Amino acid sequence: MNETPMRARAVVDLAALRANVRALRAAAPGAELMAVVKSDAYGHGAVPCARAAREAGASWLGTATPEEALALRAAGDTGRLLCWLWTPGGPWREAIEADVDVSLSAMWALREAVAAARECGRTARVQLKADTGLGRNGCPPADWPELVAAARAAEAEGTVTVTGLWSHFACADEPGHPSIAAQLKVFRTLLAQAEQAGLRPEVRHIANSPATLTLPESHFDLVRTGIAVYGISPSPEVGHPGDFGLRPVMTLVASLASVKRVPGGHGVSYGHRYITPGPTTLALVPVGYADGVPRHASGTGPVLVAGKWRTVAGTVAMDQFVVDLGGDAAAPGDEAVLFGPGDRGEPTAEDWARAVGSIAYEIVTRISARVPRVYVGRAEGTGN
Ligand SMILES: *Cc1c(COP(=O)(O)O)cnc(C)c1O
Repeated sequence: MNETPMRARAVVDLAALRANVRALRAAAPGAELMAVVKSDAYGHGAVPCARAAREAGASWLGTATPEEALALRAAGDTGRLLCWLWTPGGPWREAIEADVDVSLSAMWALREAVAAARECGRTARVQLKADTGLGRNGCPPADWPELVAAARAAEAEGTVTVTGLWSHFACADEPGHPSIAAQLKVFRTLLAQAEQAGLRPEVRHIANSPATLTLPESHFDLVRTGIAVYGISPSPEVGHPGDFGLRPVMTLVASLASVKRVPGGHGVSYGHRYITPGPTTLALVPVGYADGVPRHASGTGPVLVAGKWRTVAGTVAMDQFVVDLGGDAAAPGDEAVLFGPGDRGEPTAEDWARAVGSIAYEIVTRISARVPRVYVGRAEGTGN
């Protein structure tokens, strides 16, 4: 295909994404599924991934910021959509007018949502978020009764409808971690309090990908899956993607920009952190930290070139890095596969995470806008 970007591309397999959504729905048969598409769908492209997730039966989408949610509306998405990361002065009115469900973790947020609903003469759909132990966003249990009572009062005056009650796990990716059961217990208590105060939410939810895959009692009415939608396991402890019928969606490919013979003792890349051990062939992979390849991959990142795994030789630069092919042959234009599903012998995002001391979430999400996304496996009949 002539349009294929030559330097580098992130190939995003929407057929795999749809199959992942179906596998996750089967894993949580009693719950609805929210596909979390924050941060440009973990780097995969929010609009095409949202559309594919909807086609596979995601009745909800989730984003962090209201701007991300509004961008999905602007692209034509009309289904249920929750966003949860608000700051004072945020676009409450725009979100309410766009039928976005907004998450509230504190009284200031409820006040702003109510004021915006009054301004535009609409009823805001709000979901109250509890901090059951994550210690990040969410209303602390001590403040929950006040938030619940105020939300109930706002329902009575018609400015809000509480559509959901929810929370988020700290350690669901470490199955058996004692905080998991502790959070579930707090969550059930806070749900009961809210229900006693008269709230009748459509959805109660706490499960992220690892809880969806490993903890059925956490499924409630809705599961919020992010990383698993993209075919990646939340952690090695949870298992391999294939154990759950999941397949990685993104493949990061570059075309070799140079292949050359050099003598032994030749320094490679900034700081000469790699010296060729003997006469060899060096291949230049034209992606670097500006593309989201971690600089921490210097000397450690794996990449499939000329049929074998190679290791980044020396320092990852802004736009490029080098691999030592030893005695093997390659030509400019040949493919270098940084990561993918792994079934053509290439490394996976998990392999990169291990090599650089991070998590696969970060590996895919950090691939920058300079790398064109190329979509394959679009459904027939979507007009795209
Ligand atoms: C990112 C996020 C998720 C999805 O988490 P995964 O581990 O990727 O499934 C769910 N809920 C909230 C609040 C999040 O921020």
